[in-house]
Amino acid sequence: MGIPGSGKGTQAHRLVDRYQYGHISTGDLLRALEQDPDADPADKEALVAMKSGKLVSDDLIYKLAFAEIKKYLDQGTGVVLDGAIRNLPQAKKYGEYFKENELEKEVIVIELKMADETSLHRLTNRKVCEECGRIIPYSPENQTKEHCEECNGKLIVRADDHPDIVGKRLKEQGNLAIKSILDYYKGLAVHVEVDGEQQIQDVDRAVRNVLENS
Ligand code: AMP
Repeated sequence: MGIPGSGKGTQAHRLVDRYQYGHISTGDLLRALEQDPDADPADKEALVAMKSGKLVSDDLIYKLAFAEIKKYLDQGTGVVLDGAIRNLPQAKKYGEYFKENELEKEVIVIELKMADETSLHRLTNRKVCEECGRIIPYSPENQTKEHCEECNGKLIVRADDHPDIVGKRLKEQGNLAIKSILDYYKGLAVHVEVDGEQQIQDVDRAVRNVLENS
């Protein structure tokens, strides 16, 4: 968990590469839905909120995320939930789902802690690959890159990373907004905090430390 731009996607990809977990990014699932010509029009309608920096409806998230979790569980694979829980009702609903599937003792919530101001800077300076969706985090050397190192796709600014939209996202998904979810997980004693303002490899090391010593 973490506010937008805290490095959830970057760290999730590293966990997937290292432990072969399934990667469930609800943001990616929603963007895929947007591109799908056969998608349910009512679901597509719910994506309007996303374009303006707001959260989409909880029901759409459950429909997409639970089907995806089940797919991996059926294969016997663990999952990394990347940005899949963004308000308290969602946290509770996922909790019910974990209980029903006897997973509640398997859950670890890692918070990538970051100030809203750092997020604003990161989001408005990062890029995304138009082809594979990989996020290219802000760094002086990445600023001059124009193509993705993985697939050679063109690097662009994501539609909701434009400064006016980022302001709205941080209002709705910043530290104040996610506090109630984190308090809920602290109450369940499954919450661990990692300093998300460190260099990527240091965050990676800290996350690995949490997972391998829990
Ligand atoms: P992300 O790619 O994780 O930054 O997500 C992009 C956008 O998708 C967010 O700004 C929200 O509009 C929407 N979104 C992603 N996950 C959720 C969720 N769990 N609940 C509601 N909206 C979400």
